[in-house]
Amino acid sequence: MSQFWTDCLARFETELPAQQFNAWIKTLRVEADESGQRLRLIAPNGFILRWVRDRYLGRIEELARQFFPGPMNIDLVIDANPVAITDTPEPTSSIVVASVDKRSSSNPAPSADNYPDYEKTRLNAEFTFDNLVTGRSNDLARAAAQQVAANPGISYNPLFIYGGVGLGKTHLVHALGNEVLRHAPEKVIRYIHAEDYYSDVVRAFQQKSFDIFKRAYRSLDVLLVDDIQFFNGKARTQEEFFYVFNALVEAKKQIVITCDTYPKDIQGLEERLISRFDWGLTVQIEPPELEMRVAILKKKAESEAIALGDDVAFLIAKNLRSNVRELEGALKKVLAFSRFHGKEIGLELAKEALKDIIGAHNRQITLDLIQKTVADYYKIKVADMFSQKRTRAIARPRQVAMWLARDLTPHSLPEIGDAFGGRDHTTVMHACRTINDLRVKEHQLNHDVLVLSQTIKA
Ligand code: ADP
Ligand code: MG
Repeated sequence: MSQFWTDCLARFETELPAQQFNAWIKTLRVEADESGQRLRLIAPNGFILRWVRDRYLGRIEELARQFFPGPMNIDLVIDANPVAITDTPEPTSSIVVASVDKRSSSNPAPSADNYPDYEKTRLNAEFTFDNLVTGRSNDLARAAAQQVAANPGISYNPLFIYGGVGLGKTHLVHALGNEVLRHAPEKVIRYIHAEDYYSDVVRAFQQKSFDIFKRAYRSLDVLLVDDIQFFNGKARTQEEFFYVFNALVEAKKQIVITCDTYPKDIQGLEERLISRFDWGLTVQIEPPELEMRVAILKKKAESEAIALGDDVAFLIAKNLRSNVRELEGALKKVLAFSRFHGKEIGLELAKEALKDIIGAHNRQITLDLIQKTVADYYKIKVADMFSQKRTRAIARPRQVAMWLARDLTPHSLPEIGDAFGGRDHTTVMHACRTINDLRVKEHQLNHDVLVLSQTIKA
């Protein structure tokens, strides 16, 4: 047995980069069973267990088949006494054991170390920095999250991440949490969706258990609160959160918050809470650009071992612009279609599979719709989109509309110029450049463009 593990370690050491070998494989302990047909691998915590199970167990089993003459069952178990960080009673059977052999009932080995149970962090091990594609739309947010993961509680507190639906906010905060655990498995981390936080407050209220509630949250090293816009109008929840927030920040514990809008625009949130969000760093995630959408699709396909040609990736990316979740949905649709018909994924098949989406998209967004929406938003007349007026209050919205027309429709520059009162294509080009520049400099304008873009696509 121990010879097997020594061999196994030697193999992994040559096959993996040193950092990965040290972080994952070397932390495992091995124990033999009297029967000689069962081997137990003990991971120091649930995070490592999952990681090893998902990425390395297959290889370990393969090596076992080569090493042992007969069958060998490998159980992967956790080595921990879970630490309670919540008042919610957890089912005693919560996953602490991942066994290759489903019939076995391996008991988790007793442990001297007190590692927090990964399950209780509510983190999703699938969401990592590794599988988060980076581009202009999210590089700042990603860099900030990595910085925070490396120095929780020290660099930016709170880290406030905002952006539209399906742009990877949840993915990013899980990646942050997972990264903290990778470096510092002893940290007590909690991911919570704002709605679940609200439920916790309600439960504490009903059970008169605010003391436990407070202690649970204040004992955290890292608190990740997702979709804080759900606190809208929930006064008691906001009050409790305000205290937790202050206590954690004061104790130099990290808070990370996500939201669908810029803090100042959150509806129904107390001013004192909003002003706290300014203490740290606020970063935005924007909708990905075409190249990034293609990259995301290719990454996704690669992780699922799907052969996805550039032409198909491009077709999907070109037609689905607003959010990554939709991109993934489209890819799944194409895949299902290809399996169902037993045909390889190609351009024709993809077009057929995505008929609805592609059709709907093209039908919806017209130059007309863009002009109306933008005029409404800025409270000017639609006619001003075609007029020769050059005052800022009119010219700027007109430029925004041109920019949106360029971004959201397949129309050419001359076509867009025509639709805006017969303007020259160079005027449209100039408008697009101006807006691109201003988006970087003026937060308000950038916000306007994003809101308009979402509205038009909705
Ligand atoms: P949000 O929380 O902003 O609504 P999610 O984090 O749930 O968005 O992301 C939606 C889906 O898109 C998830 O499956 C996520 O993994 C994926 N995703 C989003 N952004 C990226 C990216 N940059 N690279 C890879 N996958 C992404
Ligand atoms: Mg989310």
